[in-house]
Amino acid sequence: MKKLVLMLAMSLVLISIAAKPVKNVIFLIGDGMGLNQVYAATLVKGAPLYMMQDTKTGLVLTYSYDNGITDSAAGGTALAAGVKTRNSMIGMGPDSVNLESILHLAARNGKSTGVMSTSALTHATPASYVANQVSRGMQDEIALDFVEQGPDVFIGGGRKYFEAREDGQNLTEQLKTKGYDVVYDLEKAKASGSRKLAALLADDHLADVISGREYLLPEALSIAIDHLSRNKKGFFLMVEGSKIDMRCHSHDIMGCVAETLEFDETVKVALDFARKNKNTLVIVTADHETGGLSILQNTPYRKGEELKVRYTTNGHTGVPVPVYSYGPGADNFTGVLENTYFKATLARLMKLKQ
Ligand SMILES: [Zn+2]
Repeated sequence: MKKLVLMLAMSLVLISIAAKPVKNVIFLIGDGMGLNQVYAATLVKGAPLYMMQDTKTGLVLTYSYDNGITDSAAGGTALAAGVKTRNSMIGMGPDSVNLESILHLAARNGKSTGVMSTSALTHATPASYVANQVSRGMQDEIALDFVEQGPDVFIGGGRKYFEAREDGQNLTEQLKTKGYDVVYDLEKAKASGSRKLAALLADDHLADVISGREYLLPEALSIAIDHLSRNKKGFFLMVEGSKIDMRCHSHDIMGCVAETLEFDETVKVALDFARKNKNTLVIVTADHETGGLSILQNTPYRKGEELKVRYTTNGHTGVPVPVYSYGPGADNFTGVLENTYFKATLARLMKLKQ
């Protein structure tokens, strides 16, 4: 009898732990980061990446509504809003109807929200979490969506879409009237006490790490977490390592590895936070693979040499991409998943009201 009571008590404790809602989600997207981009970075680093350690692993199918090979707009929209759409569409279904992203659903439930990228913030992936436009090319309109329905915190490039616009509007003035602190470097972002923060760090995309840009994304993530975690209801934050894709389009393997290693240091910041704040779920994945990268390196990598690889295309490919997860609910992200799987699953784990 005593044993039975004990077992009952134990299972109740386990159920209560399991059922604990996920309070914070940090969703990290390596744009164009297929399995081979991850492995290439481990060969150059000479050690497993942080995203590969202590995490659950799965695979994600990336095809879009109208193409076996997705672009970042349809890929981002599927990850953000849970619907397969046409390539180039942002936050809209194939029927051109606006979709609500997990970011907006989290905001409607009182959580704080943020997006960060090493590209212009108006570029396809961050835009997929914030904007609703029929084409990814409409970056002026997407910037307006950041003013009208933007997250609490956004850090990245794309200043010209806010301040050097054809229509002459100055959107940073509009952001200020909405309570945003608008800054142009990380020092100021760090010092800002404002609940709403817009950090526009470059006119368009940030420079490449391979051409001398210092790591910026890891510190930017710490700053964003610092701002967003003030909300007792928790937060949803999307972080993109955007330039893995751009370096692979150019078949620049060492440039790709440099961006992937910066992205992985950012994953480390997220995992360290989640280890201390146990109601935080970290997801690391990609929207698609870029370049059809193949690893031909058959000897131990020596510093300074060019990694031996081959690319099969200048575009994207249709291969599944990896997903790594850590924290409460991570078990839900193993096996083979559709890229539309994340929104509903995160909403369930965070107990968001639709
Ligand atoms: Zn691309």
